[in-house]
Amino acid sequence: MTTAPVVLPQGDPCGPDTSSFARLSGRIQSGIPLAPLTTFRVGGKAEWYCEPHNNLELQQCLAWARAEGIPVTLLGAGSNLLISDAGLPGLVIHTRRLRGMQLLEGGRIWAAAGEPLVNLARAAAKRGWSGLEWAIGIPGTLGGAVVMNAGAHGRAMSDVLVEVQILDEEQEPCRLEPADLQFGYRRSRLQDSPWTVTGATLQLLPGRDPAQVQRQTQRHLNQRLSSQPYHLPSCGSVFRNPETHPAGWLIEQVGLKGYRIGGAQISERHANFILNCGQASANDIYRLICLAQEKVYQRWSIFLEPEVRILGSFDDPLIS
Ligand SMILES: Cc1cc2nc3c(=O)[nH]c(=O)nc-3n(C[C@H](O)[C@H](O)[C@H](O)COP(=O)(O)OP(=O)(O)OC[C@H]3O[C@@H](n4cnc5c(N)ncnc54)[C@H](O)[C@@H]3O)c2cc1C
Repeated sequence: MTTAPVVLPQGDPCGPDTSSFARLSGRIQSGIPLAPLTTFRVGGKAEWYCEPHNNLELQQCLAWARAEGIPVTLLGAGSNLLISDAGLPGLVIHTRRLRGMQLLEGGRIWAAAGEPLVNLARAAAKRGWSGLEWAIGIPGTLGGAVVMNAGAHGRAMSDVLVEVQILDEEQEPCRLEPADLQFGYRRSRLQDSPWTVTGATLQLLPGRDPAQVQRQTQRHLNQRLSSQPYHLPSCGSVFRNPETHPAGWLIEQVGLKGYRIGGAQISERHANFILNCGQASANDIYRLICLAQEKVYQRWSIFLEPEVRILGSFDDPLIS
């Protein structure tokens, strides 16, 4: 995308003080459609939107939103988000311009929050550093992967993280250790905090044969492509797997495989995926999520907890 100009809103006397945007060299816009910025390809507009180019701009955007008392939503690759058709109030900060990666001594990699996880996996494999082979098919940024404790093939971000750099609620830079972040299965303390991830340092195992690490990485990708529906927009797995059974199996057992609402469908190939078959609305997807929860709960009294982050307002509350 090309760099957009600064677009100031049309003088709402009750709206935020946009004059402070003049201090930002960054590109603050209003009414930006969010659907193209998510892998589900659904959702309404951001009331306010920016793509900071560096941590200073990021700090300024956060400070402005805080001063105005408007909510902030961080957007990585949008690969684990269901944004409502009504869009999001407040400021949406996209991290895609916060890029950069350094391969350090002894198998350490530092990267900025907006760096795609796949780039890290490929760079590590090329160097013969093992530890990120599992990450190859995950279409998120490093920041989103840390927040979600993304994982696959029995491994997760928390296995390789040594440090996470954040801006705290005062927009002050801090360095956190994994022990500070309460990592669990697709969980971290960051999911319920006002902190913004700016970068992270990973420790991998250096000194392996690059060809071997690359082969293993490719095997993981092939396995994923052959078992998961990558041909249509989705958010990957919609629900966290309960301890007893995989969520996909439970959904399949209640007869919902292939079930459709509007333009959204529970995948025939993998029932924990909901696909946007072309014209789905966020509400279609949301209704399928509610239906799967309801049917599985009715049959087994098992609560399916969404892994996807559901943002904005929807009509009916989820079961909780
Ligand atoms: C086809 C497909 C396959 C997938 N497979 C997997 C898989 O195997 N394993 C897995 O774990 N996930 C998988 N996912 C889900 C998703 O890719 C991961 O959860 C990923 O880590 C999300 O990263 P993101 O950058 O897209 O974050 P987003 O979806 O943009 O955001 C996720 C959450 O993190 C927050 N966030 C993002 N960046 C920051 C930041 N810098 N600071 C603070 N908060 C931030 C957001 O506000 C949101 O709450 C898959 C998704 C798709 C579409």
